[in-house]
Amino acid sequence: MVGLLALTGCGSGGEDKGKDPISGIEAKASTDKYRNYYEIFTQSYCDSNGDGVGDFQGIISELDYLNDGDPNGGEDLGIDALWLTPIHPSESYHKYSVEDYYNVDESFGTLDDFDKLIDGCHKRGINVILDLVLNHISNKNPLFEEACEEVRQGKLDGKAQYFEFHKPDYFSADTQVVEVGDYVCEANFSDTMPEWNLNSEKTRREFKKIVKFWVDRGVDGFRLDAVKYFSNKDTDGVEFLKWFVNACREIKSDIYLVGEDWSDDSEIKDFYKSGIDSLFAFRFATSSGDIVQNMSTMSASTLVKKLASYDKKMSEVNPDYINAVFLSNHDQIRIANALEGKGVAAEKLAANVYMLTPGNSFTYYGEEIGMTAPGTNSDKYYRLPMVFDSDELPDITVDGASTVEAPTEGGVKQQLKNDDSLLNHYRRLITVKLQNPEISRGKITGQQDFGDNEVGAYYIEKDGTKLLVIHNFSPENEKKLSITDEILPNAEVRADFLGSVKQKHLSVKDGTITMPAYSSVILKSAES
Ligand code: CA
Ligand code: CA
Ligand code: CA
Repeated sequence: MVGLLALTGCGSGGEDKGKDPISGIEAKASTDKYRNYYEIFTQSYCDSNGDGVGDFQGIISELDYLNDGDPNGGEDLGIDALWLTPIHPSESYHKYSVEDYYNVDESFGTLDDFDKLIDGCHKRGINVILDLVLNHISNKNPLFEEACEEVRQGKLDGKAQYFEFHKPDYFSADTQVVEVGDYVCEANFSDTMPEWNLNSEKTRREFKKIVKFWVDRGVDGFRLDAVKYFSNKDTDGVEFLKWFVNACREIKSDIYLVGEDWSDDSEIKDFYKSGIDSLFAFRFATSSGDIVQNMSTMSASTLVKKLASYDKKMSEVNPDYINAVFLSNHDQIRIANALEGKGVAAEKLAANVYMLTPGNSFTYYGEEIGMTAPGTNSDKYYRLPMVFDSDELPDITVDGASTVEAPTEGGVKQQLKNDDSLLNHYRRLITVKLQNPEISRGKITGQQDFGDNEVGAYYIEKDGTKLLVIHNFSPENEKKLSITDEILPNAEVRADFLGSVKQKHLSVKDGTITMPAYSSVILKSAES
């Protein structure tokens, strides 16, 4: 109960702030695919044995922070799904070059530790998905080494068929390749990451084995790396993805799959034809994405139009698609940097925007405490260790970098004690999503134009329930909005998200709501 009181902020001096509209509403744990995901870069999360590398036991030791198993109380963040970046044996610190698809990197622990992690997660209602790299492999993977041996001897009908081996003139001059004997293998990312041949029956049999291996260990799904590169001269990436999705569903009917395609709407739309659950909505993320850009021009209405049109577009090809929205990931600048100069209130608003968009939200570890990247010239700065206690900064080195900065409001320990922290704001967002399951599961069915581009409003509908979500993107001005019965009959505030918990809770009075600067609200028709 202590945690709930802290979360709702009704512990002291409550009379001036009004009643918190979220108090007394039951939050229900998710049992389906609609989840609040949390991306963990295992190496950087928590180091249990002091060797300077984060590990499975480290994550296990922080499960109480991630989700204590009670959606209505505790001091946990409340996320209910994890995406682990690659955990397989690999020389690279990021582990996207996989040397063995059937094991875990020993610096992270043993398969037994991994099983304990899955077990601990499932006991708390947390699903776990693994990063699965199907486009490329490590040149140190024995299967690739054996294929190279054969290719050097001119044998191409054996293990070579797993990979994109061709005569040098097969590829256009700008395709990255690695030379093996008289042949070359496609390698778009690096010489150390040659590519699988996704058209090969041999490859597809191997992929089924890999999926079954991890599903049997309790994994709930996969994040598919580099989907964009599935297509090449002879491979139809959408056809391959469709085959893969169906193969996975034969192994586990409720498996969750989300693909990475850092691309434009038309390509994303194409890949949704495969029937995959989700593809990351990159266009809304990072500094150049629509959320940061439209916050910077204070164009909430424009942003809402884009969210609505994206939802419509993807629903056309796959009505069951689950949008995958996020602010940043391990390849992108930290959102606190992207919103530079605008401070914690802006980080809270950005969180409102993506967390209250239908679909699954993906929170990058450390985003919930406003972690910053100390540099932009290398990915390692986006992957620095999680700060649980800013009085005791973690001793984890990431690709030679160990210069983690303490976030403005401190680490997890400090922010849990501060009702007004970004972390407590995130906790509130997740609680509200569990109180109102239609936020994740509904469709955006239209916008409401209040004649002010700084205000963006959209309807979410699901099974007869209709919500109106409104964002005020002005950093300075409050907005008085008329909420007529035509807009939403008997509207009342279901939840509000303010820049500070010291502000008065919102309510609809005499058909009007007054939204302070940088705030969001969810309205719902009062039940009669
Ligand atoms: Ca360790
Ligand atoms: Ca809880
Ligand atoms: Ca490829």
